Amino acid sequence: MPTDLSGFLQNQKALVTGGNSGIGEGCALALGAAGASVAVNYISDEPEAHRVVAAIRQMGRDAIAIQADVSKEEDVQRMFAETIRQFGTIDILINNAGLQQDAPFHEMTLRQWERVIGVNLTGQFLCAREAAREFLRRGVVPEVSRAAGKIICMSSVHEVIPWAGHVNYAASKGGVMQLMKSMAQELAPKKIRINSIAPGAIRTPINRLAWETPAALQALLTLIPDRRIGEPEDIARTAVWLASDFSDYITGATIFVDGGMTLYPGFATGG
Ligand code: NAD
Repeated sequence: MPTDLSGFLQNQKALVTGGNSGIGEGCALALGAAGASVAVNYISDEPEAHRVVAAIRQMGRDAIAIQADVSKEEDVQRMFAETIRQFGTIDILINNAGLQQDAPFHEMTLRQWERVIGVNLTGQFLCAREAAREFLRRGVVPEVSRAAGKIICMSSVHEVIPWAGHVNYAASKGGVMQLMKSMAQELAPKKIRINSIAPGAIRTPINRLAWETPAALQALLTLIPDRRIGEPEDIARTAVWLASDFSDYITGATIFVDGGMTLYPGFATGG
């Protein structure tokens, strides 16, 4: 598998929310490998953020760690101001931070509902808005990219697959789908490209219970026609491509990176 990404994103400046773990970490490392300077956002676990920053610097790229809760407007504005102060501008936002707070529907508290919507949906709105403001201020710099900026929203197969016991999460990702498409429609004339990646089951801390025992993994694999769990690198390579000019004519799209999970595997034997 080709892993040499160098040069794809030369001289570009990226911000990855929730970049100290799982898919965000994978994206931050891949963007660095592709030549970008990377701001690694974290809400907690600062040492992990510094570990990712060190790995990117090891590649000879610029990297910084920035603490912020993406659901808080003042935190997001401070994070963008700090990134722009240090890097000069931003070309790529990976809107990745997300969480689950699961409960049977009739037991779900308003707090659980609001926290998941607040981080997964409002957080993506707040970060995308700050990124768009910077892209609009700066415009296209042809030596850097054909686009004035790129936003990649981390959605989920649950933007289309309903998910019992996780209604807050599924609703947040359904919301991300229309947030992404509506932003893409509005901002395409300004040369801002906005797309989503919808991961299937990826081996990260968020879904540890689904893969850490052999029995759980076996059950999970019945939902995946490709019969393997995804790795953060599967998502990261797609993110680099979506952030690069190789995908210049793509905007408003969701790329499903799911080993076929959205292909109704229950119907594989005729239903
Ligand atoms: P993860 O738990 O490893 O990473 C989530 C990251 O978001 C962590 O760094 C966490 O600290 C951060 N975060 C949470 N709340 C935050 C906040 N308020 N402000 C800033 N950062 C915050 O899990 P992951 O699997 O890497 O998840 C990354 C994204 O991918 C999420 O949006 C998730 O919904 C999505 N996703 C994951 C899978 C999967 O199978 N792993 C599948 C579909 C979608």
